Amino acid sequence: MADAFRLALIAHDEKKVDLVAFSAQHEVFLSGCDIVSTGTTGGQVQEACPALSIRRVKSGPLGGDQQIGALIAEGKIDAVVFFVDPLTPMPHDVDVKALMRLAIVYDIPLALNRASAEILLQHAHR
Ligand code: PGA
Repeated sequence: MADAFRLALIAHDEKKVDLVAFSAQHEVFLSGCDIVSTGTTGGQVQEACPALSIRRVKSGPLGGDQQIGALIAEGKIDAVVFFVDPLTPMPHDVDVKALMRLAIVYDIPLALNRASAEILLQHAHR
């Protein structure tokens, strides 16, 4: 979609149910977005919201977070919604940090929990 808002959606396993519910709640807005998502998250959101157009990259632990980081570096992402699990150690913690770091470097809006994501969507524009 030309000029569509380019949104990355990611959730750690313990937060996927929350992100799916968030996506369903905002399905009308999200249907106007170009969405990119890590593999498992994207699959679950797509199943709950079949009308959404979601490009899926690899699963986070297999490089998906790095792929989304690369898209940020290329100027191809307008915002990131990443529901992180702060209570579980992750094998790909460094990849998660790298993605967050690039969002900061390129000054991309980055919501790490649902309360922030609600505010982000209210102000989402290109
Ligand atoms: P997933 O990756 O959507 O493939 O589970 C997300 C992550 O763990 O970073």
